[in-house]
Amino acid sequence: MRYVSTRGASVSLPFNDVLLAGLAFDGGLFVPSEWPALPVGAFDRFADMPYAEVAIEVMWPYVAGTMPQDDFAAIVNDAYAAFDHPDVVPLRDLGDGIFLAELFHGPTLAFKDLALQLVGRLFEYELSRRGERVTIVGATSGDTGSAAVEACRDREAIEIFILHPRGRISEVQRRQMTTVLSLNVHNVAIEGTFDDCQELVKSLFGHEEFRNRHRLSAVNSINWARVMAQIVYYVKVAAVLGRGAESVAFTVPTGNFGNVFAGYCAQKMGTPISQLVVASNRNDIVTRFLETGTMRVGEVHPTLSPSMDIQISSNFERLLFELFDRDGRRVAETMARFRTDGEFTLGADTMAMLRTTWSGGRIDDDQTLDIIRSTWTNQHLLIDPHTAVGLGVAVACRRDPSVPMVCLATAHPAKFPDAVEEATGVRPPLPERMADLFDRPERYKILPNSLDALESHIDTTLLGVAP
Ligand SMILES: *Cc1c(COP(=O)(O)O)cnc(C)c1O
Repeated sequence: MRYVSTRGASVSLPFNDVLLAGLAFDGGLFVPSEWPALPVGAFDRFADMPYAEVAIEVMWPYVAGTMPQDDFAAIVNDAYAAFDHPDVVPLRDLGDGIFLAELFHGPTLAFKDLALQLVGRLFEYELSRRGERVTIVGATSGDTGSAAVEACRDREAIEIFILHPRGRISEVQRRQMTTVLSLNVHNVAIEGTFDDCQELVKSLFGHEEFRNRHRLSAVNSINWARVMAQIVYYVKVAAVLGRGAESVAFTVPTGNFGNVFAGYCAQKMGTPISQLVVASNRNDIVTRFLETGTMRVGEVHPTLSPSMDIQISSNFERLLFELFDRDGRRVAETMARFRTDGEFTLGADTMAMLRTTWSGGRIDDDQTLDIIRSTWTNQHLLIDPHTAVGLGVAVACRRDPSVPMVCLATAHPAKFPDAVEEATGVRPPLPERMADLFDRPERYKILPNSLDALESHIDTTLLGVAP
């Protein structure tokens, strides 16, 4: 399998190069040159197979040729052994044909673990094979940082620096990162906002001498390997619910569009998905696009579901490439227009085609609390605010009540205890293995919002001068 750029001006690369490169050289995103079909009869077998075995079969065509299959199988088995639930992604029946697929049984209690637990191991494997090391740098407003720290801790070929805005993330989120005392993990609290942190990371990558000296790298959500890992649960859930013969619908709480795009990939591989529903909070750029045909950037509003407080959904570019029949030049032109004008509009025919599968809906904070409350009252089940947004939109946007509707539950309720308590009066407890999170020692460095200060901190830390 080779990978091409959505902007059409990059050479095609194999999986291991795409893994380490992240973004393509022309600024586009990597996509597979073709969609591999799942083998005939696969769904009948997948229904009762362990999650990791399904994962190996679904992902292998994307990886084949870049490592021995036994090595890949060992990496996948190891990644999903780190999950709390024997099914990895258990399904919960809420009645009326609505299901929750629980994606939060990984080390940091959010769906990003499903991809990052694998990607961290793949990085380590490929870097060791090449005899190389990298320094991963990232900014986080919460979930991504902790999932990346857990994915990279104690890996020999990786040092990781994660910046968070001091005092502006929840205590659970901070502690999930700062109580990891591994020597290769370096948390930095910046005196500033999340945007300041992101700006600092961008500036580090823009400083070419520094970037090359420390071999800076990222594990952000545009990395193809993350999308690839997420395809698996769509296939597995469809196998369990429909055995591949009956179609299934999915509703996905959406931010960067990485999760729901993996649903599209699963469909292209032959998974019978009849509907993909994008669920938004007040930051509803994709939902507005699906309604109007115009993608237009607005302001970011803070909500109870902060991991979806995003105005630019980077992974959408991959769907655009598909909608334009893989015409990279047209994608490049459209993205250039989007950058200068803050918007672009697609034609009525394209939108009509898109709407045969895709729909979208939005839920505000009051409705989010109502849904958490009613799910607690009616089902005796605590759900997190992101999952609540999904559930509310799923009920509103469902087209065919005879088709099972699966809502992806993207975070554990204990990750957002304040919202859950406000809605229900019940504070969701952390899972047992984390029950002492608030007693564990923390380690992090506080720095001013200054590129110089950050660079000298990274320099001295990597020289082994300071912890
Ligand atoms: C990251 C995240 C999302 C958004 O996923 P995308 O792939 O960026 O669309 C939704 N919910 C939670 C809890 C997340 O952490």
